[in-house]
Order: sequence, then C-alpha cells, then structure tokens
Amino acid sequence: RQQKREEGVNLLELASRFFRERLALGGGRQAREYLERRGLSQEIIRDFGVGYAEDEWESLKRYLLEQGISEAVQVEYGLLVHREETGRTYDRFRDRVVFPIRDWKGRTIAFGGRVLGDAKPKYLNSPETPVFHKGRELYGLFEARQANRQLSRVLVVEGYMDVVALAQFGIRNACATLGTALTNDHLQRLFRLVDEVVFCFDGDNAGRQAARRSLQTALPSMIDGRQVRFLFLPEGEDPDTLVRQEGQEAFENRITCASPLSEFLFEQAAEGRDLKQVEGRERFVTAVLDALKHLPEGVLKSLLLKELSVRSGIEPSQFADWFEKHAVPAP
Ligand code: ATP
Ligand code: MN
Ligand code: MN
Ligand code: MN
Repeated sequence: RQQKREEGVNLLELASRFFRERLALGGGRQAREYLERRGLSQEIIRDFGVGYAEDEWESLKRYLLEQGISEAVQVEYGLLVHREETGRTYDRFRDRVVFPIRDWKGRTIAFGGRVLGDAKPKYLNSPETPVFHKGRELYGLFEARQANRQLSRVLVVEGYMDVVALAQFGIRNACATLGTALTNDHLQRLFRLVDEVVFCFDGDNAGRQAARRSLQTALPSMIDGRQVRFLFLPEGEDPDTLVRQEGQEAFENRITCASPLSEFLFEQAAEGRDLKQVEGRERFVTAVLDALKHLPEGVLKSLLLKELSVRSGIEPSQFADWFEKHAVPAP
C-alpha cells in the first residue's frame, strides 16, 4: 500500500513538473496570458505550482511512457482517460490551466484544471484514485500551513482561484473543497489543525445553499473551544473578485465581522417565518431545537438553549421534554 502511494505520488509529481514546464514554454503563451488577465502574479503561480496542459491528446501520456510509466498506471491515477468503446487512452487534461492538489506533506495527489475560455465543464478534477479522495482533501491547506508558522484560523472557500487570489493578497489561510459539499471528514481535518473555521462561499444562491449545508455539517463537531463563523459576500462576488476590488485590509475586516454560528443558526430558523404569530414562533423554536439536537453537550449548547428560552419565553425544562421525544438515533 505504501509502495503504491509512492508510485502514484512520483508519477503525479512528474506530471506536475511537466505541466509547469508547458506553461513556461511557447505553447503556454495563451495560458500565461489568461493567468495574467486573471491577475495572478509570477510569485503566486510558483507557490501554488500552477501549470498548463496543452491542447493535445497524448502529450502527457507520451512523456510519461518515456519515463517508463505504463498506460495502466496513468489511468489508475487519473491522468489518462480510458475509452471503453475504442480501448484507447488519452490525456484527461487538455488545454487547461492546471492546479496541483497537494496532500499535507506537499505531495501532489491530484489536479484541477480550468478551461481558458467559456467551454464546459469549467473545471475538471482528477477522479477518485488510490491517493485522492475528494471528500477528504482541501485545496490549499498545505500551502496555508507552509505560509503560517502557527495557523489558528482557516477560511473555507469554494474555488481554486479564490484560494490563490486571497493568498496573493496576503490572506494565506484559505482552502477550498474540491467541487463537493463540505464533509464531516473535511471538518475533522480542519479542527485537528485549528480552533476556528470561517466559511466564505460565493455571494450567490449556490453559495448561500452551501453555507446552510455547512452549518448542518458543522453542528456535531461543535465541541467547546471550537468556533465556526460565516462570512457572506455581496451578491455576485466571490473571494477572488472581492479581494481584488477591495484589497487585503477590507477583506480582513469582513473576516473579523463574520457571523458566529449562533447568529446564523437563529437567522436561518427565523427565515420566512412570522415571529409575530404563535405558529411562526413555534416553527422557529422547533427549527432551532432540530439543529441543537445535533450539537454535542457543552457550554455552547447550554447557552444557545438559554438564548432560545429568552427569545421564545419557553422554560428550558420544556426543551428537555422535546429532546427526549426527538432523540437523534445513535450513530
Ligand atoms: P472562476 O473564478 O475560475 O470562474 P470559480 O471558482 O469562481 O471559478 P464557481 O463556479 O464559483 O467557479 O465554482 C466554485 C468551484 O466549484 C470551482 O473552483 C471548482 O472547484 C468547482 N466547480 C465549478 N464548476 C465545476 C465543474 N463543472 N466541475 C467540477 N467542479 C466544478
Ligand atoms: Mn459560484
Ligand atoms: Mn471566481
Ligand atoms: Mn466562484
């Protein structure tokens, strides 16, 4: 298994170097221009190891074959696509800017590739491989640890470009899920590293939906001492566009002012409900309780119950009855 991992990592490291070289060569001119248009500095391109996959079907494949790496292995690690009908294989990443995804030791374990124009799909990731599990890895986490002697807080954003742009503007503690929703695995990984996680998704419907889902995912992890906050961006912005407009200081102020989990939770429970009516308040209270039943016992939970009692006028003892009736089945 260990040997397998090394084999894969070596191969992916070779591929990463190949992509970086292609970006620097003549054929990479359009990609270099694209990155320049997006405002990426040379330094940040180097730090994140950004490369380019040429507009060729077998360019990487030929190179890796020369290095003695079989097609089968290249397929296994997601670099080649194997077409069942014809039995042929070809490069997965073509004419895309390529971001290496690194594990906690900095070893390349997968890639994300972006088209230079408007073609679909906009982003393409490596598939699941022996070394890459989307639901576990966070893009940029290695780079964040490299840049910070002691990380105390991590920002979770949606995209590669968000991580890279924030880093370029001096905010070097962002990471991104890889086109998937935040998982419990992601969160466990983050909380082993830091006590505070700030979610900062795009200012659009998908981003707000991701925030609501992340709240649900975070609840069971909220043991005392941990903090989760939510930073909501103006409509139509993402961290990349916003930090380029506003700069580091303004963006850092937004981070400082991000809503604590408690605030977002009460807001969510109240949303669309008329709290002037008994029925609206009933739904508000049960929505909060529904969330709190997933929270571990602790000071945070006690305080939230107290707050709910203040806001609703219901005695805390009645909440206990409710929890008894709506117990979460043991995992
Ligand atoms: P850009 O700024 O380069 O246009 P973005 O990061 O703002 O990209 P979004 O549409 O906001 O792009 O998507 C956020 C993230 O979701 C992307 O960075 C990528 O990781 C993932 N993603 C988006 N589209 C796809 C796709 N078609 N397939 C897989 N993942 C995707
Ligand atoms: Mn988006
Ligand atoms: Mn973007
Ligand atoms: Mn975006």
